[in-house]
Amino acid sequence: MKSQVLIRNFLSFIIFSSCLMVSCSEREVSPHYIHIDSSVLSGEGAFQEVDDFVALGPRVAGTPGGGKAAGYLADKMKALGLSVTVDEFNAEVHKENVTFRNVTARLRGSGDGIVVIVSHFDTKAGISEKFVGANDSGSSTGLLLELAKILNEVPALPYDIIFAFLDGEECRRRYSDKDGLHGSRRLAGKLKREGDAAKVLAVVVLDMIGDRDLSVTLPRNCSPELLGMVFDVSKKQGVREMFSLAKGDILDDHVPFIQAGMPAVDLIDFSYGSSKAANDYWHTDEDTMDKISADSLQTIGRIVIGLLNELMDL
Ligand SMILES: [Zn+2]
Repeated sequence: MKSQVLIRNFLSFIIFSSCLMVSCSEREVSPHYIHIDSSVLSGEGAFQEVDDFVALGPRVAGTPGGGKAAGYLADKMKALGLSVTVDEFNAEVHKENVTFRNVTARLRGSGDGIVVIVSHFDTKAGISEKFVGANDSGSSTGLLLELAKILNEVPALPYDIIFAFLDGEECRRRYSDKDGLHGSRRLAGKLKREGDAAKVLAVVVLDMIGDRDLSVTLPRNCSPELLGMVFDVSKKQGVREMFSLAKGDILDDHVPFIQAGMPAVDLIDFSYGSSKAANDYWHTDEDTMDKISADSLQTIGRIVIGLLNELMDL
């Protein structure tokens, strides 16, 4: 089913490209790319990825579990044939020297632009031995794996996509410039140093997006143009009621990218709990696979594809 859709897309791309060549001979036309069919993303596929990833166990940064998770993600990206970087770095966190590992994989497109899709993969330290973080950070990590698989089969993209699995989002005690958001600060700095930051069209951060009762609370401290784009895409896809602005700012992995001058948005559902407004499963042993659903993963995955399509038309 999936490959049929992709073949159809590929054929339409060839037909469209030929039309473009004809019209180009008559007048200058800016090239447009064939939009990706968002229905190729399956919630079941993403759910399976989350399940497999969460089964690895706790993934606290700097522990053997964290290292094992980074290795697993790097292997999965290499198996897709993508160019993979494991950026290992150390930082002093409350007098403890912690080793972090960012795993990034780059899918090449034509053109200069870059879209970065982010999920942190570490779990919060100090909760309990049973804490597996199915939603925080299993859901976004599994969805990013599934997105990489799908997008890797798109025949032509007008920009590069970096799939960024970031370590050390969770703070040990309280968020500061030395505690928490380690992976995103590291990647934002690296993109800036290497001259790539100016090419970034969008950074799309995914966090806690598997909740069965999906209600995305977009932080106010996201780039306004991307917030508008998320609302537009959710309306087009008939899921606008699942998206609202959070009451205020949220400190998450989008912040270091914004501070480094890149447009960024954070798709986060920060009402993960036993009732609509509650967030009582967050950072507790209750954050288990039974609380997340394939439908929610599918909704967010298709929104990401919708955003990628919008970014093709800029
Ligand atoms: Zn967390």
